[in-house]
Amino acid sequence: MYDVWKNALAEIEQQISPANFSTWFQGTSIISNDDGHIIIGVKNSFYVKQLRNRYLDLITTALKNNNIDVKSINFEVQTKVKSKVRSREVTARDLPIKKQLSTIKQQRAIKDSSNHETGLNQKYTLDNFVIGSNNDLAFSAAKSIIDSPGDRYNPFFLYGGPGLGKTHLVQAIGNELLKKDPSLKIFYTPIAHFYSDFIDSVRLGKGNEFNLKFRKLDVLIIDDFQLIVGKEKSQEEFFNIFNDLYQLNKQIIVTSDRLPSQIKSVDERLASRLTWAGAFDLQLPKFEDKCAILRAKAELMGADIEPEAIEYIAENVNTNIRDLEGEFSTILLMSEVRGLTPLELIKNGSVSVNKTTRPHQVTSKQVVDKVARYFELTPKEMCSKSRVSNIKTARQITMYLLSKELGLSTTKIATEVGVKDHTTVMHGVKKIDQDLRLNFILRDQIAEIKEKIYD
Ligand code: ADP
Ligand code: MG
Repeated sequence: MYDVWKNALAEIEQQISPANFSTWFQGTSIISNDDGHIIIGVKNSFYVKQLRNRYLDLITTALKNNNIDVKSINFEVQTKVKSKVRSREVTARDLPIKKQLSTIKQQRAIKDSSNHETGLNQKYTLDNFVIGSNNDLAFSAAKSIIDSPGDRYNPFFLYGGPGLGKTHLVQAIGNELLKKDPSLKIFYTPIAHFYSDFIDSVRLGKGNEFNLKFRKLDVLIIDDFQLIVGKEKSQEEFFNIFNDLYQLNKQIIVTSDRLPSQIKSVDERLASRLTWAGAFDLQLPKFEDKCAILRAKAELMGADIEPEAIEYIAENVNTNIRDLEGEFSTILLMSEVRGLTPLELIKNGSVSVNKTTRPHQVTSKQVVDKVARYFELTPKEMCSKSRVSNIKTARQITMYLLSKELGLSTTKIATEVGVKDHTTVMHGVKKIDQDLRLNFILRDQIAEIKEKIYD
């Protein structure tokens, strides 16, 4: 059991920020596994709620990937578990009265129950999904689906990097639809569960049951479709189900971290069908979006946090919303443990959100050098008049980064990259901005280059 958990933890560690991993997973262990009913030992009751709310899916998938047939997961406070992170255990009773109240309020604030029949978790609602410039288009499509499922946005294909709200938004659609019409047959499933269920059904000779279960649905929500890679039979089965449901005007919703055409080994016909009604993406939130999300979370949790502390977190977490929430929870937790307000903690240097903080002293020369090196060009080659496609792209990416990261004026950028005038720069920046919406490879490339620049 020890090894299985160790392997599962290694997998989980890959998928969340180091701060979250050490906060929530250090000192956990599997207490028992009774025929798939698993009990995980944690440090105190605060962790039970957090792990269940935030990481149940991740833990389930990690265990399944380690060949554990997971039927249920429960968490138990295990007093003997020694924490290396914190020197003492914190329970609600240790906290001052006001904090105790806020802890209880937190526990009541979020309804968190996964429904076995629909796979939907009630904690994901449209009310607690904050609309911002990063998600407004996808959000309006979601509203339109709730008003009229199986209609204009069918299939609804939602894509974007990890932690940007895909699962939240599609689950919220499911929950809202069910609220409107409780008789609807809705099923949410991560693609990984879809294929393990499919394989089980074949193995147990229950293919028919599997078939029926999916074909009688009114709404099918498939999460993390990119993980279909290499699962040919499951892909075929999904394609058949997709076609059958589509013909009956049943709503199909699919999320992925990239466009279907950018997923290896996805059947071309399926890829094109998935984006028939368009592809909607979720982008990284801007500063204002991040503040709005944190304010909404604070309100929901009944947590006291100063506006300056919110701004500090928003400014320093530049990865995604999952990490933003992670840092926020860590600071709130520390604030309870230490008896200081979040801002006091930040001011006295007890917390630093360094991993995602970027030094501001990057020069334009560094940007030019790093982009050139990334494309295996010399800065001189890159900043030439060449119209060879990869040189031109490298040049446009440089313009884009000089504008977005360093905030240089278009005239200054023109001089830096050796182009004629500022309109060429404006065109280049706009081109990359537009391409980023649809081109996942470009998005990865730019993320990698940024890593190198801020290394
Ligand atoms: P993804 O599926 O894209 O990896 P999730 O849907 O799991 O991301 O989102 C990560 C976390 O961020 C979740 O806890 C989710 O509730 C939260 N989140 C994402 N987008 C928003 C938003 N717009 N408003 C509020 N919370 C959000
Ligand atoms: Mg997800």
